[in-house]
Amino acid sequence: MPNDQTQGHLIILSGPSGVGKGTICKELLKRDPRLALSISATTRPQGPGEIHGKDYYFCTPEEFQALEDQDGFLEWAEVHGNRYGTLKLKVKEILDSGKDCILEIDVQGGLQVLSKMPQCCITIFVAPPSEEELLRRIRNRDRDKPESIALRMKTAQWEMAQEDQYQYTVINDDLETAICKILQILEEARRDAPDPAAVCSDLL
Ligand code: 5GP
Repeated sequence: MPNDQTQGHLIILSGPSGVGKGTICKELLKRDPRLALSISATTRPQGPGEIHGKDYYFCTPEEFQALEDQDGFLEWAEVHGNRYGTLKLKVKEILDSGKDCILEIDVQGGLQVLSKMPQCCITIFVAPPSEEELLRRIRNRDRDKPESIALRMKTAQWEMAQEDQYQYTVINDDLETAICKILQILEEARRDAPDPAAVCSDLL
C-alpha cells in the first residue's frame, strides 16, 4: 500500500455479552457513514435470521483452523465454547478505503489487538449500569439456558475487571445517551489523531 494513502481509525468496541454493544454498533453504523463494521468469522452455528457474510462468516472448525494457519486473523478468541476471529483482510479493506473500522469483539480479542497495535486503536468499553442489570438483560434476551447464563455472568465479571485497560468507558444505561457519547468520542479522536492506522498497516 502506498505510504501517502489515507487510512481510517481502528475502533475496538468491547464489553460483556448482553450489555447491548450489538445494538449500539448497528446504530453507530446507521448514523455515521464514515464507519464500517469488520465482519468476523465464527464457528458458532448460524442463528435464525442471521445472514452469512452480513452477521458473520459462519465456518466449520476446520475452515477456521485453516484461516488461523494462514495467519489470517488479527486476533481470535474462544467465547463460550465457540471460536470468533477478526479477519485481517476485512480490516485492511475497510481501512484502505479510508473508513473507520469497528471491531465489535469480546475483551480477550480487544486486548490482543491493543497489545499488537497500541498506537492505532480507539478502545471503548461498554459497561452495564450494574451487574444486576446485566443479569436482567441476559435473562430478558431469553436466548440462553440457565447454565449458559451463569457462564456469561462469570465471564462478564472477568471482563469488567479489564475495563481500565480501555481508553474510554461508556455506561449503557440509556441507549441513546450511550450512542451519542460514543459518536462524540469518535469525533474527538478523529480530530486529535487524523491518521493513526497508517503506522500500523504492516501488521495487517
Ligand atoms: P454472539 O455469538 O452473541 O454474536 O457473540 C458472542 C461474543 O463474541 C460477543 O461478545 C461478541 O462481541 C464476540 N465476538 C464477535 N466477533 C468476535 C471476534 O471476531 N473476535 C472476538 N474476540 N470476539 C468476537
